[in-house]
Amino acid sequence: MPEWAKIFSLLQQFIEDNELPSISQIAEDNADPYRVLFSTIISLRTRDEVTLSASHRLFERAPDLQTLMETDEAEIAELIYPAAFYRNKAAGMKKCAAILLNEYSGNIPGDRDKLLKLPGVGRKTANLTLNLGFGINAICVDTHVHRISNRAGWVNTKTPDDTELALEKILPEKYWIPLNEILVSYGQKVCTPQSPHCSECVITGHCKRIDVGKSR
Ligand code: SF4
Repeated sequence: MPEWAKIFSLLQQFIEDNELPSISQIAEDNADPYRVLFSTIISLRTRDEVTLSASHRLFERAPDLQTLMETDEAEIAELIYPAAFYRNKAAGMKKCAAILLNEYSGNIPGDRDKLLKLPGVGRKTANLTLNLGFGINAICVDTHVHRISNRAGWVNTKTPDDTELALEKILPEKYWIPLNEILVSYGQKVCTPQSPHCSECVITGHCKRIDVGKSR
């Protein structure tokens, strides 16, 4: 079993010396579930710095759901450009806003099954909204969490959804919320997709380096 307390203590120190991922920064400024949900939708397949600036532009123009629904789809697309699939995301956001206003009285539901029914919302988005918007324990597995957990040998899985289920069985619940923020930041800077910086890694003693190949 991985030594979670040691691993998280080492990674926490790293995080404190580095910039937080974009959604964590947005939640730190304002943990409104509306902002967490829609900035996470923007973040899909999008670089962190683009997510941050696009989210700031969107929330300045549309600080709440009602304003978002009243904003023209083309304007939303322009505000979140150059996020990946910005036109599709803008269309999805409008639909999402309408559903939330009509079916949930303008509240973001703190319930995964309800979040998953919204257009453009998958497990990653739903779990991060629960984490950062509501403080509800859930394991948000994105590409970084999936990759690092498998490289380290903590899990042996093929998909992020399987990683979420595998981690739920072995990771104490107190680490479920911090896991994403820590591993996203670590995956962007140290345990990168190509040629990870193993020589600088603070958790080498807790990593089996499975399928790593070339490293720095
Ligand atoms: S030792 Fe290398 S592969 Fe393992 S977590 Fe650190 S950077 Fe990633």
